[in-house]
Amino acid sequence: MNEKVPPSRSVEKDLGAFSPGASIDRKCPICKSDARLWKSVRSYGIAECEKCFHRFLAEPVASNHVESIYGDDYFFGGGAGYSNYLDQSGLLRGRGTEYARRIKRYRNGPGKLLDVGAAAGFLLEGWIDEGWRGVGVEPNRSMCQHARKRGIDVRCGTVEILDLESDGPWDLISMVQVISHLPEPVESIRNLVRYLAPGGLLLVETWDRMSWFARLCGAGWHEYSPPSVLHWFTPKTLELAATTCGLRPVASGKVLRWLQVGHAKSLLEHAGKESALMRMAHWSVAPLPGGWSVPYPGDDLRWALFQKPN
Ligand SMILES: [Zn+2]
Repeated sequence: MNEKVPPSRSVEKDLGAFSPGASIDRKCPICKSDARLWKSVRSYGIAECEKCFHRFLAEPVASNHVESIYGDDYFFGGGAGYSNYLDQSGLLRGRGTEYARRIKRYRNGPGKLLDVGAAAGFLLEGWIDEGWRGVGVEPNRSMCQHARKRGIDVRCGTVEILDLESDGPWDLISMVQVISHLPEPVESIRNLVRYLAPGGLLLVETWDRMSWFARLCGAGWHEYSPPSVLHWFTPKTLELAATTCGLRPVASGKVLRWLQVGHAKSLLEHAGKESALMRMAHWSVAPLPGGWSVPYPGDDLRWALFQKPN
């Protein structure tokens, strides 16, 4: 994602000569156990918890991390972000519709949805197509404006600063590829659970570092992209984060996803700086027109659904 944003580098200096296996001062943000350095990626230390094996950025980030990462450069600057996020509208709207249809198995009829990290509201539009009433939250002002121009209610800011309680309680809160960017994911989930109706659902889509694709790529996996990505979950550590906040697991699965070729090229070119495998993948899509869509071949993206007790 956006590497041009300067993060807090206070700990990087302390890392000095990077030594995998060295203890770090920070505790695991999921289970609060001790952690050790796992690897250095793009000169950032990635730590691994000794107990739950959650991986996270070893160094703290600035308090405005989320707002700074999701600047216009993330949506239009290429790299690990998007060369033009707005080109994704059709694919994302379709994914919103898919999720709304999938959720039918777990609740009776549509309800009120809060989409956290809604960007331009394309996913939200897919949910609305299926009868949901939805509000989005998005820190990037340009994205909020794009959504509002189309009549989609996306509010500019973060969950922490917006008054979402007066519109709630929400029947479903979705976080699609958001949680790995949050400095303190457990605290963020706990905060969101307050807004959920009893029996309400939390939908999380995020990357799985235990997938075969992630393990095959090793440290060159595209999601090892600090400092925009701060956490590398496994299905177990995601479940632990949710159950710590009083939620119960309901269902989970792999996301079958389509990628726009232009976006794939941008991502692979960026990841290819660290990985020969990613460079080969980039060469394989290079001849294809940027406007085409191709099925994403990896098994590393998953969804999980959790429920607040009645
Ligand atoms: Zn842990």
